[in-house]
Amino acid sequence: MNPKVILVVEDEPRVLASIKQGLEEEGYRVLTATNAADAMQESLDLTPDLAILDIGLPGGVNGLQLIGLLRQKFPSLPILMLTALGTNYDVVRGLDAGADDYMVKPFNFAELMARTRSLLRRGSLAPITEEIQVADLVIYTAARKVTRAGKEISLTTKEYDLLFFLVRNRDRVVTRREIAEVVWQLKFDTGTNVIDVYVNYLRNKIDKGYDVKLIHTVVGVGYILSEEPRK
Ligand code: CA
Repeated sequence: MNPKVILVVEDEPRVLASIKQGLEEEGYRVLTATNAADAMQESLDLTPDLAILDIGLPGGVNGLQLIGLLRQKFPSLPILMLTALGTNYDVVRGLDAGADDYMVKPFNFAELMARTRSLLRRGSLAPITEEIQVADLVIYTAARKVTRAGKEISLTTKEYDLLFFLVRNRDRVVTRREIAEVVWQLKFDTGTNVIDVYVNYLRNKIDKGYDVKLIHTVVGVGYILSEEPRK
C-alpha cells in the first residue's frame, strides 16, 4: 500500500522537523513547507491525504487563507490546524474557514498522531448512505429513524437534523455558527442559545444512560460527535 501523504506547513524549523520526523516514523510520506506558496508548490505533484497547517505563517498568506486555497484545489482534503494563538476567536475562524480540527501549541505529540489517524480514517465527509453507524448508534437516513443499542429513539425534526449534521461531520469539531447556518438556516446570532438547548435535548435522548458518550462539548467553540473521548 502506498503511504499516506501528509503536507505539513510550519515556519518554525524545529517544530517542522520534529513533526516531520514523528510522522515519518509512523510510516507517512511527509511534504514540508514553511509558507503558503511553497505549500501549494509541494502539493502539485503529490496530492496530500491530510494537511497540518500552522496559522501564523510568513510571506503574506497566513494559514487561514491557505485553508481556502487548499480547499479550492482539494475539496475533501482533511485539514488540521495548529495555532499558537490559543484564543477561541482564531480557532473559530479557522474552523469556519474549513479546517476539520485544531490543536493548540505546544501540543502533545501522541495526541497529534491520534488526531492524524482519526482524520485520515474519516477521509472526507461520510457519504449519505441508507445507514450510518457510530458505535452502537445507527441512523437509517431514508426512514429518518435512529436507534441506539438496538432501541429506537424518537427525535423531533430539528433534533434529527442536528444529529444528522453532527454524524456527517463525525470526528470533526463543528462550530455553533455552522450548526446555526446548516440546521436552522440562520445567520449566526450570538444572543441565541437555541443550539445549546437542542444539543442538550439530543444528549438526553442519545447519550443519557449509555457508557459511551458520543456528543462532546468543545468549550467556547462548538461540539464534536465522536466515539473517542475528548479531553
Ligand atoms: Ca508560525
